[in-house]
Amino acid sequence: MASNAAKPKRLYQTISSVENAYQQFDRAAKFLDLTPNQIAVIKAPRRVVDLQLPVRMDNGDIRVFQGYLVQHNIGRGPAKGGIRFHPQVSLDEVKALAFWMTYKCAVVNIPMGGAKGAVLCDPKQHTTGEIERISRRYFSDLIELFGPDRNVPAPDVGTNPQIMAWFMDTYSMHKRDFLPAVVTGKPLEVGGSKARLQSTGAGVVHCVRSALQHLGTNVNGCRVAIQGFGNVGSNVAKLLWDQGAKIVAVSDISGAYSNKKGIDISAALEHVQRHRDLSGFEQGGAADKLEDAEQLLHVDTDILIPAALENAITAQNVSGVKARIIAEGANGPITPDADQVLQEKGAFIIPDILCNAGGVTVSYLEWVQNRMGYYWQLERVQAELSTIMHAAFKSVLETAERHDCSLRMAAYICAIRRVTQAAELRGLYA
Ligand code: NAD
Repeated sequence: MASNAAKPKRLYQTISSVENAYQQFDRAAKFLDLTPNQIAVIKAPRRVVDLQLPVRMDNGDIRVFQGYLVQHNIGRGPAKGGIRFHPQVSLDEVKALAFWMTYKCAVVNIPMGGAKGAVLCDPKQHTTGEIERISRRYFSDLIELFGPDRNVPAPDVGTNPQIMAWFMDTYSMHKRDFLPAVVTGKPLEVGGSKARLQSTGAGVVHCVRSALQHLGTNVNGCRVAIQGFGNVGSNVAKLLWDQGAKIVAVSDISGAYSNKKGIDISAALEHVQRHRDLSGFEQGGAADKLEDAEQLLHVDTDILIPAALENAITAQNVSGVKARIIAEGANGPITPDADQVLQEKGAFIIPDILCNAGGVTVSYLEWVQNRMGYYWQLERVQAELSTIMHAAFKSVLETAERHDCSLRMAAYICAIRRVTQAAELRGLYA
């Protein structure tokens, strides 16, 4: 079968991600009348590590990989944030992602700070053994900075539960103890939590349902387009499809596929399981392949869910976006200028720091279970997630109504207030 798979490429990079994050912060800080001293403590990252990781390849050669770790803020608890394995990740992006983690934890009010890590590598180009050695080298080089009370990583783009198990094992071997709480998103067999794999998608769906309820409608028959069909995108697709939504378009690195009558999501999932991605999904008439993957953003739909990478909706492509609700499954998928255009059009945008916080919320629940040594049933984890997500959505919506601002600003107002209060209460050591 001919493959339509495109070469991996990044989404549009029209603005620095950290610039995007800081612009959001600055606008929200004005609502809170923060002083320059308060801003100085909570805006920029507290620690930035740039490291070179020599790793032996299967053929005996040594390759040196660029790695990063950014710890943004630990005022409210240990730093929390995923580790990304991607060939083109930049330090700028890692700083932005660490920043978003601080405010994401604060918006759902879990007691953790923000961090992010990355290794510049393409997991698809390496054997399992090479990925294991890259993972263990990264974790052992940074061993002093990680820990259940310091920095608790999790999976992100390009990493998975197996890599988390290697991280946990590396840490436990160094410390001569069994310490599963050092990392979350682990396999169930070594201290993972039920519902963790689906949790980010489940959180997005809780937000979408709350938004629909607020707008006086419901999920049944709603048309949805989803950009990205990885962990977040595919779980959102499955959950919304199960609940009666019509998924009219999906995309991944191989391209975008649409079907006005609705895509059979179980067939799409099966296809990805067999072929790694959606390439060839159009064969057999399950969907039409769109000429350009970007057209997914412009399909006629009620809900658009960008769930791939940053900077997907930009000033260049925003004018064609028709969806009334945009749920940011990815981090930073809308550039500030595009955001402005969408706000003016009256789009209901559920901001990333709220919308995709389900993953970090269940990560926190995994960390709690690890520390208790007692593991909950699926229903308990799902119920805790639902309670936290609905409470956060409600408080962001009320804040937006009180300040007459967007949900994005409201989410930052809620989050920045909590981080500022923690900083004030702790004071400065020294
Ligand atoms: P993933 O690697 O599992 O999936 C990414 C998907 O995006 C893949 O299907 C890939 O093919 C697709 N993609 C890449 N480039 C694309 C392009 N140009 N056009 C269309 N699709 C493209 O990653 P993930 O874990 O699903 O994460 C997706 C986003 O969600 C990222 O921004 C991540 O930071 C964010 N996020 C993830 C989690 C989590 O728990 N996994 C939690 C919070 C936020």
